[in-house]
Amino acid sequence: MKRVAVLGATGSIGGNTLDVIARHPEQFCASVLTAQHRVEALVALCVTHRPQLAIIADPALEPELARRLTAAGVKCDIASGHAAIASAAASSLCDVVVAAIVGAAGLDSTLAAARAGKRLLLANKEAIVMAGPLLLEAVRVGGGALIPVDSEHNAVFQCLPPGQTALGRAQAEPGHTGVRRLILTASGGPFRGWTRAQLATVTPDQACKHPNWVMGRKISVDSATLMNKGLEVIEAHHLFAMPVDAIDVVVHPQSLVHSFVEYIDGSLLAQLGHPDMRTAIACALAWPQRIESGVPPLDLTTCASLAFEAPDRATFRCLDLAGAALRAGGDSPAILNAANEIAVEAFLSGVLPFLAIADVVEAVLTELPGQAVVDIPTLCERDAMARDAARRVLRHAC
Ligand code: NAD
Ligand code: MG
Repeated sequence: MKRVAVLGATGSIGGNTLDVIARHPEQFCASVLTAQHRVEALVALCVTHRPQLAIIADPALEPELARRLTAAGVKCDIASGHAAIASAAASSLCDVVVAAIVGAAGLDSTLAAARAGKRLLLANKEAIVMAGPLLLEAVRVGGGALIPVDSEHNAVFQCLPPGQTALGRAQAEPGHTGVRRLILTASGGPFRGWTRAQLATVTPDQACKHPNWVMGRKISVDSATLMNKGLEVIEAHHLFAMPVDAIDVVVHPQSLVHSFVEYIDGSLLAQLGHPDMRTAIACALAWPQRIESGVPPLDLTTCASLAFEAPDRATFRCLDLAGAALRAGGDSPAILNAANEIAVEAFLSGVLPFLAIADVVEAVLTELPGQAVVDIPTLCERDAMARDAARRVLRHAC
């Protein structure tokens, strides 16, 4: 029986993970569940999944969590705060950690799981964007494994030669395996084909209405700006040790092909399936075995034709801003990520226009040129500096 800590259990990835786990009660159980502040949702999950430990990130909500769990007849340990989440991720309560907290807030628990040698199912892409080499080093030293859950990276993982862990590949020489290029697919988001004039007045609800995927609001906005694909290029660079110029992006509106790996002999391998994260989650949970995920098979005779087109980089500037941050090196990707988190928050709360998200990120990258990555505390200081800079830019912009 594998015990799984689901960090960010009340979110979209968290819910999908618990759905897959519940299909395999003989193989997996959810031993730790965490949430930021949705106490009621966390209690409902505890009633269904009966974890050993429930953690609420906001300490002020711990008494309410205790009260509601007692009222619901659930007996489990209770804790609160970020340190409790990180320590649970490293504890003997779990063998597998699903890092599904959104944003840099998930970095410390992701690192803790890596250092403790857990099987780390990485959904929290912001953690690897911020701290790529340090996170991979933590996985190596911890002796566990990192399996990507992000659908594109999970697709690449499945299309790369078998017999190597993701970490093994990260340490391999680029090109060593005959891989020439990774091609990440992007749906194009809800605004594919729109002009800058049309984008000037779009609302958060429009941005969060993704055509194919149901996701949390932050990643939905990132998908609409194409920053999500930019973050994914950085993620792929770290996970698969591929140079930035060997990672391409192609828009594929049907979201049935989740990504490609191109080999030097001309072979192009793809992974296909319905746009449902349970496939990637089931793959990562059971790898190298395969288990049922609840996702129906893809009927090729009834699915629409597959279309591919180049991304509109001039309109959706975030994609190239991310590429530029990766090329600039050092902690530039962490600066980009922090500025983007603040800008997306401002857009979601209605104070920043959609197109200005890229402007805020660009201004912060200009103000804070990349510095060498030294260690996690320095990285967190730089993250905080970038957030302050973004808030200053916002005060002038809004
Ligand atoms: P979500 O907003 O639906 O859920 C986020 C979860 O994290 C919630 O449980 C929330 O309580 C918790 N959380 C948020 N802020 C927190 C904080 N400060 N401290 C502690 N917990 C906090 O997000 P999601 O769509 O599930 O995405 C989660 C992560 O997975 C993101 O990094 C996203 O980029 C990545 N991802 C998501 C999808 C998807 O289909 N949803 C696909 C690929 C990657
Ligand atoms: Mg993705």
